[in-house]
Amino acid sequence: MDYTEEQVKKEATRLYEKLQKVNYSKDDCNALAPLTLEINKLKKEKNAVILAHSYQTADIIYGVADFIGDSLELSKQASTTKAEIIVFGGVKFMAETAKILSPKKTVLLPSNEAGCSLSESITAKDVKRLKEKYPKVPVICYVNTTAEVKAECDACCTSANGLKVVESFDSDKIIFLPDKLMAQNIQNLTKKKIISWNGLCVVHKEFNAKQIKEVKERFPGTKILVHTECSPSVVELADFAGGTTGMINYAKMDNSKSFMMVTECGLTDRMKVELIQKDFVGSCELCPYMKKNTLELILQVLKKPEQKQIIELDEKVIEKAGKSIDYMMKIK
Ligand code: SF4
Repeated sequence: MDYTEEQVKKEATRLYEKLQKVNYSKDDCNALAPLTLEINKLKKEKNAVILAHSYQTADIIYGVADFIGDSLELSKQASTTKAEIIVFGGVKFMAETAKILSPKKTVLLPSNEAGCSLSESITAKDVKRLKEKYPKVPVICYVNTTAEVKAECDACCTSANGLKVVESFDSDKIIFLPDKLMAQNIQNLTKKKIISWNGLCVVHKEFNAKQIKEVKERFPGTKILVHTECSPSVVELADFAGGTTGMINYAKMDNSKSFMMVTECGLTDRMKVELIQKDFVGSCELCPYMKKNTLELILQVLKKPEQKQIIELDEKVIEKAGKSIDYMMKIK
């Protein structure tokens, strides 16, 4: 990494403009600058694109990402770019979704430890058993599932369109997996009988109604934006409940001054950087999986990926999982 003092200074200034809002110091940015310069240079040389989920750390999001968003949004964007390589700043099921939507591209996941408690809670075998137990009942899987699990399902859904996908089936029973709490939230909105699995997100299961009530008392007028992976008792107290993109849009459009983002801390940080005129209060939770990716790993994976960092999927799995994603995409 051979950069002039001037180049490093300029890059550190660019980083500091954004990162100071989430407590990075000038020294932190000076230390990061050679790394982000090198990643951004390599990215161009290799015709790669870097996608960052909103739960990634701010140095990844504002230092090197080409696109920021939720997993499906990112995969869709990646499939429309001319890049040959996709570096996915997110967790494994997201990188797999990118591979399903862009099978000809090389998809790289910087940390092979970036899993997800939801996607790891269920296997394709479990889904097959459920289908045997409940024949002819449509199976909907949340996007937070492995490609093999998606391949066994009739449709996929996101936190934003779960209810619509459920209602799209002409059946009075639906198997909805793997998120138990999201299934309960959907059950509260539909007349269909929801058969659920016992998966939980380690981040969102931690929030409780008491915390929310305390924030409401301490900061009157605060809008409470809740991710639907939280429990129904938390969702009940929300001004808005949905996925990360919906939460961001609500915070952008709503005229209130103060918001609580009931989700992973990365999203709250993003809002602090991007909506400086608004206040973000209350606590958030860290996802241990999302935080496995680092700038150092992104640099390494761009230079020379190890086999375990390359996403490879069976062709049949890609085809079948693609169908469950296609079903969802067609739902208006
Ligand atoms: S926040 Fe929850 S759902 Fe998202 S990756 Fe982490 S464990 Fe999985």
